[in-house]
Amino acid sequence: MNANRVALITGASRGIGRAIALALAECRFDLVINYQSNLEAAQSVQSQASLYGTRAVVCPADISQKEGQSKLIDFIKTQFGRIDVLVNNAGVAPAVREDMLHASEESFDRLIAINLKGPYFLTQRIAQWMIAQRQQLPEIVPIVINISSISAYTSSTNRADYCISKAGISMMTRLYADRLAEFGISVFEIRPGLIATDMTSAVKEKYDPLIAQGLTPIRRWGRPEDVGKAVIAIVQGYLPFSTGEVINVDGGFHLRRL
Ligand code: NAP
Repeated sequence: MNANRVALITGASRGIGRAIALALAECRFDLVINYQSNLEAAQSVQSQASLYGTRAVVCPADISQKEGQSKLIDFIKTQFGRIDVLVNNAGVAPAVREDMLHASEESFDRLIAINLKGPYFLTQRIAQWMIAQRQQLPEIVPIVINISSISAYTSSTNRADYCISKAGISMMTRLYADRLAEFGISVFEIRPGLIATDMTSAVKEKYDPLIAQGLTPIRRWGRPEDVGKAVIAIVQGYLPFSTGEVINVDGGFHLRRL
């Protein structure tokens, strides 16, 4: 069995997932860098992670598909033989932002499949492995971290499907936290706000002035590294009596202000 702790980060080729992977590598985790199509970007994360002296491997798999989930789990079992941390990060925005009175069923199905159904069943299957592993190796303390969004509670009527998928991730966090606690597995939700990545590049000009005018109390775009640091805060083990907890990484967006 692998000596280092092993983390699977879905959607780790770019953006937030990439930053989480590199933060975990810096903490001496061995990594499974999952991605869907961007091999070059995934390999660049792999080579950067290797600079920290950890072992990082890449695994293309569509997490929304059962076959993709099986491929990932089989791959980790073969490569490392253990799993310590699952970060459900992979996610997509709607291809076009469209008023919910007209937005398509195809977009809804795509968003729910990738952002919610995929993570839900990947977690179910990895949790079963974590439970079995815990019986044999109780010293391994597994953690599941779900990347949701401020869209879990903020209405954006031109991407309702995205909001619904992220609200589902919040409920999924509470459900798995409840179900897995008896097995010593804790589950956390990180709720990012506006983070500068490929996903938000198309709306940068819209949000730049809003942020400058105080949309968020901390007047700047979030960085992927801000989310990476929150993951490290969790996996270092300083929250041993917490589960189902939400960590907002949003510059204070969630505060109600007068
Ligand atoms: P991003 O830059 O667009 O990167 C998305 C990542 O997910 C890529 O690595 C992509 O792989 C991967 N991916 C997409 N579909 C996949 C699938 N079916 N199977 C496996 N991997 C898949 O996005 P991001 O901004 O970093 O967002 C990451 C997560 O944070 C998402 O869940 C997003 O909803 C959430 N979030 C983002 C923000 C923000 O402001 N950016 C705010 C709140 C929450 P390829 O490179 O191969 O395409």
